[in-house]
Amino acid sequence: MRFDILTIFPQMFSGPLSESILKRAQQAGLIEIVLRDIRAYATDRHKSTDDYPFGGGAGMVMKPEVLYRALADTLGMLAQVDAEPERLIPLPADHPPILLMSPAGELFNQRLAEELAQHERLVLICGHYEGIDERFRECCVDREISIGDYVLTGGELAAMVVVDAVARLRPGVLAADSTAEESHSDGLLEYPHYTRPALWRGQAVPPVLLSGHHANIARWRREQRLLRTLRRRPELLRQARLTEDDLALLRRSGWEPGTGDVTP
Ligand code: SAM
Repeated sequence: MRFDILTIFPQMFSGPLSESILKRAQQAGLIEIVLRDIRAYATDRHKSTDDYPFGGGAGMVMKPEVLYRALADTLGMLAQVDAEPERLIPLPADHPPILLMSPAGELFNQRLAEELAQHERLVLICGHYEGIDERFRECCVDREISIGDYVLTGGELAAMVVVDAVARLRPGVLAADSTAEESHSDGLLEYPHYTRPALWRGQAVPPVLLSGHHANIARWRREQRLLRTLRRRPELLRQARLTEDDLALLRRSGWEPGTGDVTP
């Protein structure tokens, strides 16, 4: 899978994307991350990427042409775009999803990560300052993605979050079963983990985990997932895939199906 990232700060990506699992995934050819410096597509003497907002107000706005040229090069249509500087050239019909990082976008979650991981290529655009010129957004952005209800200084950290969450879902990046029961994989949070020693400073591991009884361990883990989700994020239960046994356990623990709320 290929990620094209358009940014005015490509150096920001060198640490996070070149360590650990993402580093190994790139070395193994499972993912490719291509950084494109938006500033290289500025046409003026000062290589400016932003300008004052029409109508006044604080901050600067990223210029549409420089973003458009950077995107055009990403999609292999820069020569065409430069040959007709007065016209908006339509993007190829089969272009990869073009994602703008934006606090005003749809909230990023595991479902969206799974959906994006189905594609062979994604283009991620990192905004800065007050954001980008609306005309570029209208012509060229398929989706706006927010990583949370807060405002970052730029889209780079958001793009890294998206790349990380999507890349680890690609076949071969992680061991096959490691994403199966983790938090948010099926609407529930993950069960607690324990490792050696079995007794640590007087704190024992739950005996069932030492029993070697796989069915009992699986049942215990499922219950822990349900109870943890109920206590921490009861609203997730409304969307979770629950069995009759799950519902019975949750009801015994005070959950009312359909509300997601715990009765007093
Ligand atoms: N003026 C914008 C607003 O109020 O919506 C905020 C702009 S923010 C300072 C600059 C850039 O950071 C945005 O264009 C976007 O690319 C990125 N950004 C900020 N917060 C984000 C978030 N929660 N999720 C994704 N991207 C974000």
